[in-house]
Amino acid sequence: MRHRVVVIGAGFGGLFAIKALRNAPVDITLVNGTAYHLFQPLLYQLATGILSEGEIAPPIREVLKNQKNVDVKLGWAQRVDVGSKTVYVEGPGIDYTVEYDTLIVSAGSSQSYFGHEEYATYAPGMKNVDNALELRARIFAAFEIADLQPDPVERERWMTFVIVGAGPTGTEMAGQVAELAHRNLPGQYKHIDPRKARIILVDALDAVLNTFGDHLSTRALRQLHLLGVEVELNTKVVGVDATGIDVETERGTERIESMTKVWAAGVSAPPLARQIAEAAGAKTDRAGRIFVERDLTVPGHPEIIAVGDMINLSDEKGDELPGVAQVAIQGGKYAAKLVKRRLAGKPAPEPFKYFDKGSLAVISRSSAVASIGKVHLSGFAAWLIWVGVHLFYLVGFKNRITAVLHWAVSFLGRGRSERISTVQMAYGRQALQHYGDPFQHVRVTPELSGEPSGEPKPEPERAPEPAAEPSGN
Ligand SMILES: Cc1cc2nc3c(=O)[nH]c(=O)nc-3n(C[C@H](O)[C@H](O)[C@H](O)COP(=O)(O)OP(=O)(O)OC[C@H]3O[C@@H](n4cnc5c(N)ncnc54)[C@H](O)[C@@H]3O)c2cc1C
Repeated sequence: MRHRVVVIGAGFGGLFAIKALRNAPVDITLVNGTAYHLFQPLLYQLATGILSEGEIAPPIREVLKNQKNVDVKLGWAQRVDVGSKTVYVEGPGIDYTVEYDTLIVSAGSSQSYFGHEEYATYAPGMKNVDNALELRARIFAAFEIADLQPDPVERERWMTFVIVGAGPTGTEMAGQVAELAHRNLPGQYKHIDPRKARIILVDALDAVLNTFGDHLSTRALRQLHLLGVEVELNTKVVGVDATGIDVETERGTERIESMTKVWAAGVSAPPLARQIAEAAGAKTDRAGRIFVERDLTVPGHPEIIAVGDMINLSDEKGDELPGVAQVAIQGGKYAAKLVKRRLAGKPAPEPFKYFDKGSLAVISRSSAVASIGKVHLSGFAAWLIWVGVHLFYLVGFKNRITAVLHWAVSFLGRGRSERISTVQMAYGRQALQHYGDPFQHVRVTPELSGEPSGEPKPEPERAPEPAAEPSGN
């Protein structure tokens, strides 16, 4: 039997590991919660109607169709039994297990609401396609509803957009909502002027893009002001509900009335990271990320390699590696190299060393900031680098062509190619919360051997019908 490699996660880390194992004498099973690979850096463009979901989230099967040594399985890994080397997975309608000789786990990160998960209902995060489509539906619906409101107070509430978190995601999102309101939508409504929309970017820290350094942070702040974004720094969110948010500032507690909120603050490791660490006797940090060895293995378990956002590893200067795509990509490639060298009986490779290729963040069309080694750029030059880098890493030739066309529509013209949003996009989350697992009546659970037992689960009690329509947010 060939060496069995199980990969959990088809994000940057998992996908690059699998591709690097293409010619290795291994049988790979990929377990991923969604059927697509997601290019997260462009999620904000999905949420603001610039790109379609197909452009940033190609089907994994298509991406890997020419790689014969990989079996793609849909499902969420629930836990890993490190003793029997078995992964327990909840698939759609069926639970199953997969056994491994080597486990490469790259399950990414989850949105963190700092213990206030209830905020998510009113302020969706930006971690997956569902989130971005939900936000798209809410943003475009807000302008439609504002146009119908006779009461100026209500109208203003619908035309106020709050983005929480002034890191790259929040800054990019604020910039794009501002462009939408001030550049793309004006002239399309009879009763409102979209230019009067308020876009408020809130952060508890005292700078936007604080990881980019003082110079670029100041440039980004100026760009945001030019776009008409109100930036509220040193402002901590202490409450989120259907009609607004409560914030604590040096002036005291204040309320911002807003129907549309976006949460772009805080990430934590997925629950699977903690479960693996506990099972393996490894430590996690406060965000739940696993402290791994310098060769990315989980302490005491050389057969488990963890990469990407879910690990905590410091470089030789003692700085923690950031949660960015390059850390995951380089980690995925390193994991594959480690497996190949072990199988070939060669000595282990040098410890993992992250090569920082730089950071980029877009503020608006034709304006970005770039920090590449000692070079700090802002404005159009940085934006051109951003376009090149994102096209290079976008998966699929066809996607690159259509992305360029859609960028031309939005950045050269004044259109948005992907404005369609549906009621299900806006309210699907609430339905799922209410009804739970859509497969609960047909789910098949396997015996421990990993083979499905064929016995359907007893029918659970149905949840009561909703007492009222979902709130208007
Ligand atoms: C909105 C946004 C913008 C970003 N912008 C940038 C940027 O501009 N530049 C940059 O470098 N980085 C950016 N990042 C960060 C970058 O996307 C991540 O660092 C990178 O995706 C991490 O790769 P990963 O493989 O660790 O995880 P991910 O790419 O998140 O992949 C994790 C995969 O694991 C799957 N998964 C998770 N849990 C399970 C489970 N239990 N079972 C099965 N499958 C599971 C998920 O479905 C997903 O496919 C951004 C992130 C976000 C959210």
